[in-house]
Amino acid sequence: MVNNQDLCQDHVGEPPSARTQPQPQPSVSYLSKLLGTTTFKDAATSSSSPQAVAETQPPKTTIYVKKPPGWYFSIYIRIDRSGSFHTYPHLGGPFKSLQEVEKAIERYLDDKRHKTLWKEQSGDSGMEIVIKKALYWPDGRTRRCSDNQVVEHTREQKSLMLQALLDTYNEDHKLFGDDAYEFKDILHFQSIGEGNMWYKHFNFTTKTKDGIEDLFFAEVKEERDNELVANTLCKIESNENGHCYGCINNGSIDIKHPDKADAYSGGHLDVYLPFGGGSRRPNTWTGSKEDVAREEARLRYIYGVK
Ligand SMILES: [Zn+2]
Repeated sequence: MVNNQDLCQDHVGEPPSARTQPQPQPSVSYLSKLLGTTTFKDAATSSSSPQAVAETQPPKTTIYVKKPPGWYFSIYIRIDRSGSFHTYPHLGGPFKSLQEVEKAIERYLDDKRHKTLWKEQSGDSGMEIVIKKALYWPDGRTRRCSDNQVVEHTREQKSLMLQALLDTYNEDHKLFGDDAYEFKDILHFQSIGEGNMWYKHFNFTTKTKDGIEDLFFAEVKEERDNELVANTLCKIESNENGHCYGCINNGSIDIKHPDKADAYSGGHLDVYLPFGGGSRRPNTWTGSKEDVAREEARLRYIYGVK
């Protein structure tokens, strides 16, 4: 395998050859529209910092986040070096255009939508639909959920995002077939707030076809609502133990960081934003049938619907 120090210095987003051979980029305006933003900035321009910085910090990998309106999950989109689009979860493809991506997402949502829940029953009033929408997601899942369900859902979403980053890493390091890393599991993650910047640090495990497992570190920055940038993605050796105020101050003492402090941007300031690290907690009821029935009764009372 490749030397770990090299991996940590390499940026996940950029094979050496790409510095001199710009790859095709999607239409910014179209991607912007797809992802619902008017201030979209593409990956190629995110390195337009001063020249001295650009030489040591190649363009960074950007993962795009599509949040279907009315749903509870995100779909991550990665653009490979040939300009094809990959979705996480896998919705077919790779896709040659964003129009194809959009159609695949529409098909996916149509398939997921509950087949009978939203059919209007004879006599259903508008308020019946309002109550149903307050209780259920489009696929019939109950809207509120337990702590464990929140944790599990968060892990699933972050796993998809890390899989997308790892696939870019494999591509950039020319690791294909049996040599490619496969995502295995998230071990830890921590949000870090520094000034007005937000970072997330991850430890996750990978495996290869021959059964070898490795530990990885990733630092991901939220550029904006629908754009995640990987500052770092690298293998961690068992003897590495880089220091990170951000993780320690938020209680995540088990996250292993690269030894090289400049391998990651966040976590070097000894600041603590107590509202930053915790996951958002929705209201808690377990989503069991009894709880749903109680919540429905409460809503019917509030709305005055028998
Ligand atoms: Zn950290």
